[in-house]
Amino acid sequence: MKQSFLLSAVIISLLLGCTHSSNNAEQKTTATQSTLDTTKLKIGDVFYQCEMNPEVLSLKDTACYKCGMDLTKRVKK
Ligand SMILES: [Zn+2]
Repeated sequence: MKQSFLLSAVIISLLLGCTHSSNNAEQKTTATQSTLDTTKLKIGDVFYQCEMNPEVLSLKDTACYKCGMDLTKRVKK
């Protein structure tokens, strides 16, 4: 019992460490990947947006680089 508690404590601290380092990586990818400016699109142009991360936009039908969900097709109005 005591061992499994220690084990889960180690796992949790590892997970927290991972989350922290991936946050740093995420900030870098955000700078390079968020290049789509929807204000430059014409009315009727198709783009793709993540429902979970509205800031994730793409011209390609791809998966969100943040959560992995398929992006939702949107039409510029
Ligand atoms: Zn997402």
